[in-house]
Amino acid sequence: MPNHAPTSLTKILATLGPATDKEKALRRLIEDGARAFRLNFSHGDFDSHRKRLEMIRRLSKETGHALAVIGDLQGPKIRVGKLPEEGVLIEAGAEIIFRKNTDALANDDAKILPCTYAPLVEEVQAGHRVLINDGAIRTLAIGTVDLGDGERGLRCTVTVGGLVTTGKGVNLPDSDISAPAITERDWECVEWAVEHGVDYLALSFVRDAEDVQLLQRRLTEMTGSDDSEHNRCNTASAKIPVIAKIEKPQAVENIDSILEATDMLMVARGDLGVEMDLAHVPATQKMLIARAHAYGKPVIVATQMLESMIKSPSPTRAEVSDVANAIYDGADIVMLSGETAVGDHGDLAVDTMRRIAIETERSLLHSPLRQPRISSKLVESRNRLSALAHGAFHIVHDADAKIVAVWSESGDAAQLLSQIGMRVAILAFTTEPRVASRMALFAGVTPILCDAAPEHRSGFDLLVDSHIVFNGLCEPGDRVVVLAGKPLGRAGVVNSMTLHTIGGEDYCEA
Ligand code: ATP
Ligand code: MG
Ligand code: MG
Repeated sequence: MPNHAPTSLTKILATLGPATDKEKALRRLIEDGARAFRLNFSHGDFDSHRKRLEMIRRLSKETGHALAVIGDLQGPKIRVGKLPEEGVLIEAGAEIIFRKNTDALANDDAKILPCTYAPLVEEVQAGHRVLINDGAIRTLAIGTVDLGDGERGLRCTVTVGGLVTTGKGVNLPDSDISAPAITERDWECVEWAVEHGVDYLALSFVRDAEDVQLLQRRLTEMTGSDDSEHNRCNTASAKIPVIAKIEKPQAVENIDSILEATDMLMVARGDLGVEMDLAHVPATQKMLIARAHAYGKPVIVATQMLESMIKSPSPTRAEVSDVANAIYDGADIVMLSGETAVGDHGDLAVDTMRRIAIETERSLLHSPLRQPRISSKLVESRNRLSALAHGAFHIVHDADAKIVAVWSESGDAAQLLSQIGMRVAILAFTTEPRVASRMALFAGVTPILCDAAPEHRSGFDLLVDSHIVFNGLCEPGDRVVVLAGKPLGRAGVVNSMTLHTIGGEDYCEA
């Protein structure tokens, strides 16, 4: 394995964009600790996504790091249409007009902004808020206006001004919107994601479990595999696991049924903070993370984590605390959006996140409060792997083991070890490339892709030993917990645990 700075257990998910298009820039993000990348289908065309995906796969081979790629479906998100390169500055007190997705114009009285959602004019009533860029720019609808050729525009007064650029999101928290949960454009992106082997699909503006199931049913049809019995991420399946983005108050209300259905959760604070009172977001984040863990599902915290680093080489104190607190709350993954997609200091942002995560994890390691995260749903189901993971957590603690190693052909065992909140690294071996890249998203897990499984269990102990020694992951004399099954390499079979001393000969069956 390559030698870079130590990585954090918390995974860093970086959004790709124009600022990461040079191979050198992307390589830096990997070197600085990013192990998962987000293709935001809201921005850019398929050609740009294909180039980014190919570059990730190439750099994964080159660096030896498994990397997960998430395709983010925008759902019924309304956006500002195409504007001139430099954007359009709108000022508080001025009037603006939204029109269907055609060119931006200015008449004598008001600047005209194009919008991707044609029924906007009919569905937004006077007095409704029309918010731009995660609510940073705020306007109030006051009526409609005739634009000629039978077209009507929506007149708004600007209450908080700012610079509007192409593709910025538009939120209508007061209006009833008729757009479907998954749009025509989203279905095209789903096809593309399946064809190109994207590892995960995130769905925006989920309202209830039905939205998640609609996507899952289509994915089952497309890939011909139904893993609905699985309670986890279906890591080995051809079917792409789904991440439900929680950014509507309705989804917060329906969180339990959504968690039953989804493979993973994202606390999408950008739109959530516009759709509900911003003051409710921190408590909601804590609640969502706790519920996700009760269901044994990983959770991502996203948006504005190091926002000021888009322009500045150093973060604010508040941002540093936000990243740390998300980890204290139990986030498995922390995400960077504009910081890496369009920021001036993407590499520094990843490095900053990694350093905050490592320090926070260190403080958790020595915290007397450190307890395993038990999923009540998994305990209820008497899940065998989950019980083994629970045991491993305590053995790691009592024996002061430095690493857990597991042969996890399907990724299930790795996910359960991750989910228990293991505070040491988990080395997860597999022969399946798709499993390796999906496991890259699990907190604490370092996937290791092997050509073949060792024939015997003792061969695996030796492999673990030599991997750890070769990569200098811990010192001779340190202890390691090793989990595997017989036969090694068959998916779903993990049934033995040993406590092993690096460089020693004492294999202790646990
Ligand atoms: P979402 O609601 O899905 O998070 P977003 O518009 O907030 O969508 P992010 O991926 O969070 O998008 O990125 C933040 C900002 O960075 C965007 O508003 C956009 O201005 C810019 N950006 C992101 N990706 C791209 C891209 N591929 N091309 C151009 N600009 C991008
Ligand atoms: Mg965003
Ligand atoms: Mg969003």
